[in-house]
Amino acid sequence: MKLKKNIPLIDQHDKYGFWGGKFGGSFIPETLKKPVEDLTIQFEKLRKDKKFIEKRDFYFKNYIGTPTSLIKLENLSNHLGGAQIWAKIVSEANGGAHKIYNATVHALICKAMGKKFIVGDTGAGYAGKMLSMAAKKFGLKCKIFMGAKDIKRQKPNCDAMRKNGAEIIPVYSGSQTLVDAVSECMRYWVSNCDNTHMCVGSTVGPNIFVKICGWSTSQISRELKMQLREKFNKIPKKIKLVNCVGGGSSAYGFWSEFIDFEKKQIELIGVEAGGPKKSKLHAAPLSRGAKLGILHGAAAYCCQNDEGQINETESISAGLDYPSVSPIHCFLKDTKRARYTYATDEDALNAYKMVTKFENLNPSLEPCHAFAEAIKIAPELSEETVIIVNSCGDAQKDRDILKKRLRK
Ligand SMILES: *Cc1c(COP(=O)(O)O)cnc(C)c1O
Repeated sequence: MKLKKNIPLIDQHDKYGFWGGKFGGSFIPETLKKPVEDLTIQFEKLRKDKKFIEKRDFYFKNYIGTPTSLIKLENLSNHLGGAQIWAKIVSEANGGAHKIYNATVHALICKAMGKKFIVGDTGAGYAGKMLSMAAKKFGLKCKIFMGAKDIKRQKPNCDAMRKNGAEIIPVYSGSQTLVDAVSECMRYWVSNCDNTHMCVGSTVGPNIFVKICGWSTSQISRELKMQLREKFNKIPKKIKLVNCVGGGSSAYGFWSEFIDFEKKQIELIGVEAGGPKKSKLHAAPLSRGAKLGILHGAAAYCCQNDEGQINETESISAGLDYPSVSPIHCFLKDTKRARYTYATDEDALNAYKMVTKFENLNPSLEPCHAFAEAIKIAPELSEETVIIVNSCGDAQKDRDILKKRLRK
């Protein structure tokens, strides 16, 4: 299993859609083959179309508000000693997180295909919220499939989706959570694909959805590369790019331009959700167990029991609470190009406390998992080492849970 140079990782799959011969693929019912094929042809055409790229770049700039800043966390670095810690503030993006890149591109694809309806699934509600934002912006009718149990747990996000004009379709089958919402959404798409486009909210799902999402978030690393040249005159000799990993879309977007670099120069570190310290449950399929399974139309490492049933997961951060992960991260793990580890709920909370104590930054609980790792490794590293954390979400959305957990 080997990585190729000069080819985007999203394109390094075989003709069956597998990365490294075993991760990804398109495990879909016969009835979905045609819409998936149509979408694949359209996407491959659009990504080579200059006008489409111009449109994408226009909305990235004038709707999402890119480029987002790269700042040095000087106080935190001085406090810890050792490496310099920097952060790319992707949470400056419209909506407060990176999911808007993928949602915007899907809305543009939907329009380019002449479709008026867009559907998507959501667990914690952020993917749904961002899709409803993009749908509103581009005048598309939007339906979000969501487990009935999740609807009860995620009221603020549901309110936001409705406010954006989206219809939430409650899913009562199975565990009434994300897994069932995904199946239901795909079923709906099969019967309505003539006028409806489907969006998957991370670099997961059947092959084509991994590719579209990765293509969208890779904007983050294009910006970072330019900003590094601006601030350091050249790409520094020792960099560590630290990113939290749920589905893996922010991490892929943060790393994509740097995968061809030597590991010695640019180390890629993915941090999964280790869950509560005292619990056996977690959402860290890459760093705690790594067993191959099939979920949501793709083969990837998943949290599962000995019989192959998908395990329940637990994490303080809703955005990372997902039992599987992108096939491209499985590939990066097995080729050893990226290193994966985890932070517990407690680690993430401590990182939140420390970052907010020293810096004017309010990272959500997902990137706090990445900050926890940065805080852990910085003191042992030299000052020429540049650690960069993708601060991909804003803690505004976590304020209730933070209030509860930080009150002594
Ligand atoms: C959804 C979300 C994540 C996890 O998804 P990835 O695809 O791994 O990026 C991480 N951070 C934030 C802020 C999110 O909203």
